[in-house]
Amino acid sequence: MHLVIIGNGITGVTTARYVRKATDWDITIISSETEYFFSRTALMYIYMGHMEYEHTKPYEDHFWEKNDLNLICDHVMDINVEDRELDLREGESVSYDKLVLATGSQPNKFGWPGQDLDGVQGLYSYQDLQLMEENTKNIDRAVIVGGGLIGIEVAEMLHTRDIPVTFLVRESNYWDNALPVDEAKMINEEIRRHHIDLRLETNLEKILPDDNGRVRAVVTQEGTQIDCQFVALTPGVHPNLELVKSGPVETDRGILVNRHFETNIDDIYAAGDCAEFKEVPDGDPSIEQLWYTGRLQGECLARNLCGERKAYDRGIWFNSAKFMTIEWQTYGRVPPQLPDGCETFCWQHPDENLLLRINYKKSDRAVTGFNSFGMRLRHAVCEQWIDEGKTLEYVLEHLGEVNFDPEFCDQHESEIITYYNERYPDRQLELKQKRGLLGLFQFENQMTA
Ligand SMILES: Cc1cc2nc3c(=O)[nH]c(=O)nc-3n(C[C@H](O)[C@H](O)[C@H](O)COP(=O)(O)OP(=O)(O)OC[C@H]3O[C@@H](n4cnc5c(N)ncnc54)[C@H](O)[C@@H]3O)c2cc1C
Repeated sequence: MHLVIIGNGITGVTTARYVRKATDWDITIISSETEYFFSRTALMYIYMGHMEYEHTKPYEDHFWEKNDLNLICDHVMDINVEDRELDLREGESVSYDKLVLATGSQPNKFGWPGQDLDGVQGLYSYQDLQLMEENTKNIDRAVIVGGGLIGIEVAEMLHTRDIPVTFLVRESNYWDNALPVDEAKMINEEIRRHHIDLRLETNLEKILPDDNGRVRAVVTQEGTQIDCQFVALTPGVHPNLELVKSGPVETDRGILVNRHFETNIDDIYAAGDCAEFKEVPDGDPSIEQLWYTGRLQGECLARNLCGERKAYDRGIWFNSAKFMTIEWQTYGRVPPQLPDGCETFCWQHPDENLLLRINYKKSDRAVTGFNSFGMRLRHAVCEQWIDEGKTLEYVLEHLGEVNFDPEFCDQHESEIITYYNERYPDRQLELKQKRGLLGLFQFENQMTA
């Protein structure tokens, strides 16, 4: 049996590792990006000087040979489904018995005039990082277009090199198509606090070249010209369908798969950023473009490849990020607009960048989601409380159990309870547990009981 995996990102590599644990199949991983697997989420830290590229590799270079995983550094140009063969750019061909497509995403571009000029780029691959290194040498101003997670990362990267940045965001607030408005406004302020020129409700019209075909300015739809020598286009990503767009593998926005990662073609599977589920539980995204979901999908796909018929179940939604200096975690459902049948409790510190939002059902007050900014929550506790349908009041009285901040950090549980009691004078709550190891032991005892 020869398993071939296209893509050496978190999804492809996790699939390979789990198949290797269970079988002695021949396994080949092909990627044209880098010879060895690296952590895409750490790209920004290389630019900021916190890490070297070598430090972003989760495994030592000898790991692959030791585990009998054959690596090919080349680009797959075509899949010949009839003959079960792949054509590589360098002219070789590779045959497979089973094929996994783990080809990731590509940055979005919206056909702006000037989007392909020198000095204009997205940030996805290691090559993009190298290009950004070159493109941002000795520049006076950079413009970022698109206010998502990669946009704010690029803003932070440029800021650490003291490069003045103008950040164009189409929406009324930073990322308010994903964050509730209080949170989005808090991040607006955080961006501006770092002297980044954030321009909300501002659309890019075109990018202007100089005489050498390099960017010299951008023009907004309102007609404002902003001189700059670098433009980062960061308006999100889409599944990479390059390899399958003209073949028989069925696609929509992504490569269509069932909950076992099977495409419409026998023995061809897809997972990670490039895959789109045909069926999803109510309210879940059909395409998951996160690091941990890539890992979970890779593991589940491997089990299916090895004969265990296991449907993918991600469990409770989780995401985390850092907006300049503010850490964010989210569990469950906290969409920008409150879902029907839900209410929200939101506490925000008057002076500091701290916010805790808890969504809950109107009917039985069972919590449905958490958003926390500037405070760390325990993953397992949030998941369990959502899973068990604990009430808002139970959660607030047990905030000590969920707090994951180090011991020496300020505690805000009492302020949160006071805020609740002022809001609902007829339901006075009391903090049952303080943060710390005692809280953790009590939670773990309940779990094992
Ligand atoms: C800058 C940045 C920061 C991010 N930060 C976070 C974060 O903090 N948290 C988080 O959860 N997620 C983050 N993400 C998203 C996360 O990195 C992705 O969801 C994840 O890496 C996807 O993994 P994957 O294995 O599905 O695809 P990828 O990591 O994209 O791997 C796919 C690989 O396949 C290769 N490939 C594609 N086509 C071919 C071909 N035809 N031939 C050969 N090779 C091919 C590609 O070059 C690539 O190397 C970030 C993404 C970016 C770009």
